[in-house]
Amino acid sequence: MTNVSEFFGTMVFGDAEMKSRLPEDIYLSIKKTIRDGRSLKLDVANVVANAMKDWAIEKGATHFTHWFQPMTGVTAEKHDSFISPSEEGKVLMEFSGKELVRGESDASSFPSGGLRATFEARGYTAWDPTSYAFVKDNVLYIPTAFCSWGGEALDEKTPLMRSMEALNKQALRVLHLFGNEDVTSIHTTVGPEQEYFLVDAAMHNERKDLMYTGRTLFGAKPSKGQELDDHYYGTIKPKVQAFMEELDTELWKLGVLAKTKHNEAAPAQHELAPIFTTANIATDHNQLTMEMMQKIARRHGMVCLLHEKPFEGVNGSGKHNNWAMSTNTGVNLFEPGETPHENAQFLLFFCAVIKAVDEYQDLLRISTASAGNDHRLGGHEAPPNIISVFIGDELASILKSIEEETAYTAQEKTQMRIGVHVLPKFPKDTTDRNRTSPFAFTGNKFEFRMLGSSASVAPPNVMLNTAVAEVLSGFAEVLENAENFQEALHQLIKETICNHKRIIFNGNGYDAVWVAEAEKRGLLNLPTTPDAYAHFADEKNLALFTKHKVFNEQEITARYRIGLSNYCKINLIEASTMVEMAKRELIPAICKYSKFLAESLYYKHQISVAESAESYERVLVEKLTALTEDAFKRADALGEAVQSIRKEKDVARRAARVRDEICPAMEGLRAVIDEAETVTDRDFWPIPTYGDLLYGVC
Ligand code: ADP
Ligand code: MG
Repeated sequence: MTNVSEFFGTMVFGDAEMKSRLPEDIYLSIKKTIRDGRSLKLDVANVVANAMKDWAIEKGATHFTHWFQPMTGVTAEKHDSFISPSEEGKVLMEFSGKELVRGESDASSFPSGGLRATFEARGYTAWDPTSYAFVKDNVLYIPTAFCSWGGEALDEKTPLMRSMEALNKQALRVLHLFGNEDVTSIHTTVGPEQEYFLVDAAMHNERKDLMYTGRTLFGAKPSKGQELDDHYYGTIKPKVQAFMEELDTELWKLGVLAKTKHNEAAPAQHELAPIFTTANIATDHNQLTMEMMQKIARRHGMVCLLHEKPFEGVNGSGKHNNWAMSTNTGVNLFEPGETPHENAQFLLFFCAVIKAVDEYQDLLRISTASAGNDHRLGGHEAPPNIISVFIGDELASILKSIEEETAYTAQEKTQMRIGVHVLPKFPKDTTDRNRTSPFAFTGNKFEFRMLGSSASVAPPNVMLNTAVAEVLSGFAEVLENAENFQEALHQLIKETICNHKRIIFNGNGYDAVWVAEAEKRGLLNLPTTPDAYAHFADEKNLALFTKHKVFNEQEITARYRIGLSNYCKINLIEASTMVEMAKRELIPAICKYSKFLAESLYYKHQISVAESAESYERVLVEKLTALTEDAFKRADALGEAVQSIRKEKDVARRAARVRDEICPAMEGLRAVIDEAETVTDRDFWPIPTYGDLLYGVC
């Protein structure tokens, strides 16, 4: 298969397939459903289901599944075959409209955060016709939303769709004020750049920490890390190349627009970026991409690590969420225009994002908070925990000119007047080569860089969409009631800049000076997941979500509980794994080596250890003994802390104790064992080292 255009999307029941297989009236009504979000009549659904089934069977499918995204971070599926018994004792392959549109699912084992009382364990899945069905592994996958029987969202897709609708509604109000009567809908576009590590599968399987938690809980630094920057954009190794080729092919068949691939900064780290698409589809595609990466890596004798910080001392992995808003007429609202009129509209939407990010810093931070990402953010490789917006020097001087009513460059005589002047052209490339900002305007889109590599991209986009919807609704109110539109617009932009410029920061986000400066500006600094989640149910956030019907109060409480509870579970599993590895593998290995040293000392000198004060063996045995004593005590204490914290009922208190007791204790235990590793004979070390893992794929 070399001609990509021939097999791209062949496993997707997309527009062309529908057009050719459905009667015209049915095709038109499903198009309408996709466009306007109307529900499909059952007789129409029956025809669609039948055509979809025939197509899927041609692609080898025997089963179908409602595919959904519960709040576990991964997708869920349950396969049902198409078979239905016939009178002659044979089977027919059947699939009804009812089965396509709605599925019932036992929701009791998915996280619900208390939303689902046990007596009502059922949940249901509802077809999302805006994201096309596809065939994978002989199963027809139908993207669905997942809700409780009472209609509360139990998944990532439902709030995302709600937030897109909220933004659509408010953006249209503003766009119509600018006279864009031809625009009937807007949607958010997302292009998530995905980072990951590849390690040798055999080595991976020898480490309990990687097996159970996806990250190394122990490991002394190798002599060579990423200092030379020789991996970034480096030549791709043959084994990795073969993996990437297969990954691209599989993703293309599924209609995923995989575009760019390269080696990343850390050894064994790589990146894949797709071409952007509608937020909802981009979210589904990103889940598919992560799943395929893991599956295909195994076929090549490797394991794909999606953890945010699989290795200490080298960069962790993130996900850059490129985000913009696009009209149904194909206009990107963040594309600076050619005329004063277009510019005014651009600046208003641009300022709406600035204001939204400033007012809802906490929500953006929450949407990226997880046990894994806590290890990465703020670590001189990833954005700090403080949210700020990078806009580049050109835009900064334009905003300044508007705010202060001054000329915007030394050459320019006039100040920027909204609706009168055209923005000066700024070359896109200079807009952002500052990679240290958590939220950067990159020419015609915003790039939110705080996301962890393993997480769904839905939550950050829910926050972004809803926050921007709220700001646009305020803007629309002002402008709808204005006597003089131009004047009101100018004032509105000016005021927004003035009130929210504190969030704009074009300097180095990794610099310690910034932390102090941000504090002076009154920006939030929320270093850990419990710190961030403490703000989830703040009055202003409840008001935001309920007003725009993205979450009701119970749904927010549920998400708050699930987020914190996941944080606790992950850290407690890691702590238990550390205790197990320390006590049953690493401390015993160090002891064996000490015994070996003591014996060698004895045979060499025919004297007891006590009599050989100066010998290297003696010095080392003493050092290792001290370290193992210390490690054992720490492991014991950590084990006890885990037991005690597990009993803590209140999730906020449990999370705070995990943060304050477990995390530092884990670091302490690790430091002691890592030090012992550096002086223990390699042959005695029972698990693959950092050097083995980071350079083990050839
Ligand atoms: P980089 O950030 O590495 O410089 P690019 O700017 O070329 O790379 O693009 C990064 C990602 O941004 C790609 O996934 C691309 O599809 C996506 N992107 C580009 N334009 C938009 C847009 N209007 N909306 C959302 N994502 C976009
Ligand atoms: Mg990027």
